[in-house]
Amino acid sequence: MRGGMRNPMPEQPADVRNKNFEEVTLGYTPEIAVDEAQRCLNCKVPRCMTGCPVNIDIPQFIHAVSEKKFDEALSIIKQKSNLPAICGRVCPQENQCEKVCVLGIKGEPVAIGRLERFVADHARAAGKDVVKFADVPKKGIKVAVVGGGPSCLTCAGDLAKMGYDVTLFEALHKAGGVLMYGIPEFRLPKDIVQHEIQQLVSLGVHIMTDVVIGRTFTLHELLNEEGFKAIYVGTGAGLPHFLHIPGENLNAVYSANEFLTRVNPDGRFQIP
Ligand code: SF4
Repeated sequence: MRGGMRNPMPEQPADVRNKNFEEVTLGYTPEIAVDEAQRCLNCKVPRCMTGCPVNIDIPQFIHAVSEKKFDEALSIIKQKSNLPAICGRVCPQENQCEKVCVLGIKGEPVAIGRLERFVADHARAAGKDVVKFADVPKKGIKVAVVGGGPSCLTCAGDLAKMGYDVTLFEALHKAGGVLMYGIPEFRLPKDIVQHEIQQLVSLGVHIMTDVVIGRTFTLHELLNEEGFKAIYVGTGAGLPHFLHIPGENLNAVYSANEFLTRVNPDGRFQIP
């Protein structure tokens, strides 16, 4: 597809997806991805990168896609992002990189998020999503990461790449935080989240689940007895905003956060 419009995302037909909870969007095929990537102007001053919070070299990875060099595209993305399959799905690209893409001035921006997702999914399907980074000397310094949500996963991955000995502590039985309990399966499949977490394990991140920091270990114990030299605390922003309307304290009235937390771990709504 050329001109000002982006390639549409293939998705389950409405009459099919209304009978299942599987992911609605199906992802670009290689042919669509290459076609979409060829829309990119490879700008000398890439506005898209200024909109990316982690400063991925967007033109470079898109150029690699346009030349069908999908492995190279993944390596470029993974220099800056540890979670491309997740970010390609749930990052608000429309307010970040795509919002400032120059093609958006007269038409639709390059579908940067869809291309990021394609690159990650294609590599996963081919079993080639473990990117080798240059061997960094181990620093022999232990860092604790408290929490298993996106900021902690990012922090843990980046520190591991820098040579730190990272242990991530998650209170629940699986890491992922809001990615696991806050986003429904049809929007972000949980096996995608867990697979991407496994990539962090392959980078050397140790993950300890069912550990409640403050109870299982205190911060003081981590520092003074367990040998950690630094602690990153990313326990999330889970407090809901209430509307202050009559009835919101009644039984069976839940905040969105609580509802999603109850419904997501195993797909069943759990009533106390
Ligand atoms: S701003 Fe848009 S067209 Fe320019 S390099 Fe970035 S993605 Fe490509």
